[in-house]
Order: sequence, then structure tokens, then C-alpha cells
Amino acid sequence: MTERIIPLIDARAGPPASPMSWPEALLGAHGQLKDTRGRSIHDLRISVTDRCNFRCTYCMPASVFDKDYAFLPQSALLSFEEIERLTRLFVAHGVEKIRLTGGEPLLRKNIEHLIERLARLTTAAGKPLEITLTTNASLLKRKAAALVNAGLKRVTVSLDAIDEDVFRAMNDVDFPVAQVLEGIEAADAAGLRPLKINMVVKRGVNDHQIIPLARHFKGTGHIVRFIEFMDVGSSNGWRMDDVVPSREVIDRLNTSFGLTTLEPNYIGEVAQRWAYTDGSGEVGVISSVTQAFCADCSRARLSTEGQLFTCLFANAGHDLRTPLRGGATDAQLTHLIASIWQPRSDRYSEIRTAQTAALRKVEMSYIGG
Ligand code: SAM
Ligand code: SF4
Ligand code: SF4
Repeated sequence: MTERIIPLIDARAGPPASPMSWPEALLGAHGQLKDTRGRSIHDLRISVTDRCNFRCTYCMPASVFDKDYAFLPQSALLSFEEIERLTRLFVAHGVEKIRLTGGEPLLRKNIEHLIERLARLTTAAGKPLEITLTTNASLLKRKAAALVNAGLKRVTVSLDAIDEDVFRAMNDVDFPVAQVLEGIEAADAAGLRPLKINMVVKRGVNDHQIIPLARHFKGTGHIVRFIEFMDVGSSNGWRMDDVVPSREVIDRLNTSFGLTTLEPNYIGEVAQRWAYTDGSGEVGVISSVTQAFCADCSRARLSTEGQLFTCLFANAGHDLRTPLRGGATDAQLTHLIASIWQPRSDRYSEIRTAQTAALRKVEMSYIGG
């Protein structure tokens, strides 16, 4: 049987710290929790399944994630009640935005019921939580209306090529482009516009698709974002030579269409925004390899089985499920989350080297992208 690549449980999680022991300097003006670099928790990415119906070569290579791969058993998954409870506690610490991810989040049975629960929560300032979802869109046509009715406001679709052969080779399950496009249309019609379309760019594999994909969505209102191929996990054979720097992506787009810069929507936005000079819309790049954005990183990640990760490139999570199922009170869990966030000093992308890239890290499909 193939070994499931799971993170180690970090013993540092230890007993919950008392709020009285939180150094004043680490708390913001409104008592919001800060890490050692002054970063608050703004986004929570929740992985709702470690399974996927695609085998994207850069994420879940079929040779590793094969029929014998030991995915998590149902009993290990956080229930919707447990996710809702933890989300409430994160919100008390300042989280305003939730992204549901995976694996493929639309494979999780009745995912709309979770969205319904989360959509009822409000931020510390009394505003509705911003709930988004990242999907490969294979089930989006079927699910779009239910997701919107449940309270989903935005969706990001991953699409790595507009060329049929390239896309089928990259998802490695022979999934057709047309069905992804139908999912995008259904989401648009259901009110989830504008959509974000993410393309992971790998040199020599799909970089010749940058211009055709941009052209396909130019003028539609949807925003294509080109993502640098990252050294997440330990199974995708990442090499720096495979990364197409965002600067090069922008140069190519600028030559073909003409671009001008746009201001970020908010501090800490990971995508750099550009507008087509002819007014036909917006594109973005996410440069986590060549231009690290750790300084503003306010993202926490909750794995399918309830481990809290403070960095995408970690090899260890902090177990929240055991105390959650062991009868911990809300106050104890709140303090536990604080005791994990407060000493956070992650800045992996700032210190990436060939050596760090080779280290064992948690898989993207487990932690959620
Ligand atoms: N299955 C869903 C999907 O593909 O949209 C959600 C989970 S997937 C892990 C989330 C995002 O991570 C996708 O946009 C995917 O392309 C991206 N991703 C996965 N592996 C990556 C890698 N090594 N480098 C950059 N992005 C990656
Ligand atoms: Fe599945 Fe998304 Fe990973 Fe592709 S990127 S294998 S769709 S989890
Ligand atoms: Fe955040 Fe870690 Fe990525 Fe830096 S490397 S931006 S700390 S997730």
C-alpha cells in the first residue's frame, strides 16, 4: 500500500496559554492576535477533503496517488459541526474570509450544507463572512445553483490550459476542457461573477497556453491569474527550472495585449493585478516563488482532519481535533489557537533554496491550496 504523506503532529502546540500571558505587543488595537512579525489572522483556508477526481501532475501525481493510496477515513474528517465551531473561534481572532478547498471540495457530500452554516456567521465587526471556494469545476455545473443558494459569494476555478490535449495531459484523467467551461458558465449564470480562473504555469508543459488562455477570457469579466509552480509537498518533482517567473508572464501578456498596473484591492493581496490597456478586463499573477509575499501573510490553513498549519510549506501541523473531540471548551480552543499563532515566524518563500525545496513537506491536496 502506498504510504499516505501526513505531517507530523507538532508537540509544540502544548497546553493552551492563558490570555493573560499574551504579550501586549502581540495584540493589535482591538485585541486582535498578531504573530511574531505583526501579522494577524485574516484568512482561513479549510480543506474539506483530501480526495480528488483529477491527478494534476504538479499536485497529485498518479504514480503516488494511485489506487492503493491511503486517503483519510471518513471518521478522521472534521464534521460540518466541528468546522463551524472552529470557524467561529477563528472569527473571534479576526478571520474575515474563508476559502473552502481540498482535494476537490465539491466531492465532499453536501458541501452546500457547510456553506449554509458558515454563511450565517458574522465577523467581529458584524459583517457577513466572505466565503469562497476553489474548484477544478468538474462538478460545478451540477452544483452552482445550490452553492449560491447556500450563500457562496465567489468561486475560483483552476484551469491549466485551453488546449484540449494539454489540459487532458495535465489533469491526467482525460477530463475535457469543455466541461470546465460549462461549469464556469453555470457559475456565472448562478451569480458567482466575476470568477477567478487560476492557471499554474509549468515551463515546457503549458507555458505556451498563457496567451491562448488569457485571450479566451479577455473581455468576459472573469479574471485569469497565472500562478508560479511551487515546491509544495514532496511528490511533484519540483525544480526551479520548471518555474516561469511572473515577470516573464507579464512581459508576454504585455507584448500580446498591452497591460497597465492596478493597485491591490487590499493589503496582503497575493495576486499582483494588471489591466488590459484596451479596457477589456483584468489579469493577475501570483509570484510566490520569485517574489515572496510572506511579510503580509495572514493565512491559516485547517486540514481535512483538523490540523492547523501556519504555512503552506510546513511539515507539521497542530492538532485541534483531539482537544475538540476531547471536550475542550470554546475558551480553551480559542487559547490554543492563539498559542499556535502567536509564536508564528513562518517565511518559507523568503528563504527558499534548493535545499529547502528538497525537504519533506505536507502535500497540497492534504493541506488545501
Ligand atoms: N481541487 C481544487 C482545484 O484544483 O482548484 C482545489 C484544491 S487545489 C490544491 C488548489 C489550487 O492549488 C489549484 O488552483 C491548483 O492549481 C493549485 N496548486 C496545486 N499544486 C500546486 C503547485 N505545486 N504549485 C502551484 N499551485 C498549485
Ligand atoms: Fe485535484 Fe486540485 Fe490537485 Fe488538481 S490541483 S489534483 S484538481 S486538488
Ligand atoms: Fe505565507 Fe508560508 Fe507562503 Fe510565506 S511561504 S506566504 S508564510 S504560506
